[in-house]
Amino acid sequence: MHVLDKFRFCPVCGSKRFIENNEKSKHCEDCGFTYYLNPSAAVAAFIHNSKGELLVVRRKKDPARGTLDLPGGFTDIGETIEETVRREVMEETRLTVSHLTLVDSIPNRYVYSGFCVPTLDFFFACEVEDTTLLQANDDADEALWLSLDQLQAEDFGLESIRKAVERYIKRKKEK
Ligand SMILES: [Zn+2]
Repeated sequence: MHVLDKFRFCPVCGSKRFIENNEKSKHCEDCGFTYYLNPSAAVAAFIHNSKGELLVVRRKKDPARGTLDLPGGFTDIGETIEETVRREVMEETRLTVSHLTLVDSIPNRYVYSGFCVPTLDFFFACEVEDTTLLQANDDADEALWLSLDQLQAEDFGLESIRKAVERYIKRKKEK
């Protein structure tokens, strides 16, 4: 199925002749408008406390409501990827990121409102100022610290997050 299958009419002139141009775009044969769908940028954070436990949150909303997740979310228009990390971590956990390093990136598909949004998820190792200020907020139903032994990749509902957690567990166990 084409990524723009749900876009049946030209959004400029309303023509039905809004046809597949290539794998990621559609073109209007009446007014000439062409629309490309590129991945949306999203972030997720690996944050530890002084005991080396990993911070995870429980998803309040669909998709994958009730499953575990890493703090994170979508980049807003005009925002840098670093600003996204700092904002999302603050919104979901009330923690202030003091330092961040890119550790992984994984393409994903995120179904929202019946539409499959292609994403590119960036994973950052983050240091935070004071972990005792932790408080679940916004899209996070609860926030908890898990030791490496308690971490199970299959508890994470979103595919790219599950894959990143699997890679994280593997890296930690190799050390
Ligand atoms: Zn048109």
